[in-house]
Amino acid sequence: MSMIIIMKTGATPGQIENVIARVEQRGCKTHVSKGEETTILGIIGDVRNLNFEHIERLDGVDRIVRIQRPFKLASREFHPLDTVINVDGISIGGKQVVIMGGPCAVENRQQLLQTAYAVKDAGGQILRGGAFKPRTSPYSFQGLGEEGLRILVEAREETGLAIVTEVMEPGMVSLVSEYANILQIGARNMQNYALLHAVGETKKPVLLKRGIMSTIEELLMAAEHILSHGNEQVMLCERGIRTFETYTRNTLDISAIPLLKQLSHLPVIVDPSHATGKWDLVEPVSRASVAAGADGLIIEVHPNPEEAASDGAQSLKPERFKALIQSLKPVAEAVGRTL
Ligand code: PEP
Ligand code: MN
Repeated sequence: MSMIIIMKTGATPGQIENVIARVEQRGCKTHVSKGEETTILGIIGDVRNLNFEHIERLDGVDRIVRIQRPFKLASREFHPLDTVINVDGISIGGKQVVIMGGPCAVENRQQLLQTAYAVKDAGGQILRGGAFKPRTSPYSFQGLGEEGLRILVEAREETGLAIVTEVMEPGMVSLVSEYANILQIGARNMQNYALLHAVGETKKPVLLKRGIMSTIEELLMAAEHILSHGNEQVMLCERGIRTFETYTRNTLDISAIPLLKQLSHLPVIVDPSHATGKWDLVEPVSRASVAAGADGLIIEVHPNPEEAASDGAQSLKPERFKALIQSLKPVAEAVGRTL
């Protein structure tokens, strides 16, 4: 069980410091979350050492809430307001539904720049593209590595789009952070705790993909690992899970979207490309995701899907991607969002 202390509106810095000191005297750590009006202190550690009655009577304390859920920093109780992540002036988790588009993998300069211009022209805000690819087969294209990161940066300089790209191992986090605006943790690495801790030590926004066979609680616990290492900028990504169905590559868990929004304050992004595996399902599934409350979409786009080095079957041609964004507008508006 864990615990949060909700301070009164207008509690003074001195009162807050005093509460923190009392808690830390008993061997627990505190995590301070300052909202517009109230400050909430999350207690980390063995709360059995604390005297709840005593703390509740300290000046400035409003009440103590016990959290039954295993995740705490990621929970709505702990942080009632939505987290809005600012990426180079783009707000993720606010009113606007954010669109990320680009190829599965960075293949070469021309392919990426062409796609980047298409994403920009269609109205996307963020460019995706893998430089380090987690492939099921060791014989498949593994990505261009650092050269791919340099090409992504060139595309950012040309178009102004921010970039999201995957990092696969703890030792590569600092290198990828030098180039990327958002660090992507792939589905296969959702429970790679050393990697979660490494990205948790950075100040970079993280796009955390749900594991192929992971529950919603496991996803939230993975987010908790990042948050507990000090990085509060985490986006949760529903990208489909494995079921018995084989017509689609994965099964999009549509109810995960509103459920994650209930359970957590973190932005929820949907990846309809990996969820379906089929380009012609991407558009309807994108619309459904926005209708269900997604804060953003990450979509694979390729200028020439038949020749893509990876995931061609689920990649949209630029004109289809543009048409998709247009078709999302009335859906976003119907649920009180903008595009
Ligand atoms: C990707 O985004 O290209 C990717 C590999 O996704 P996932 O980790 O969700 O399979
Ligand atoms: Mn892919």
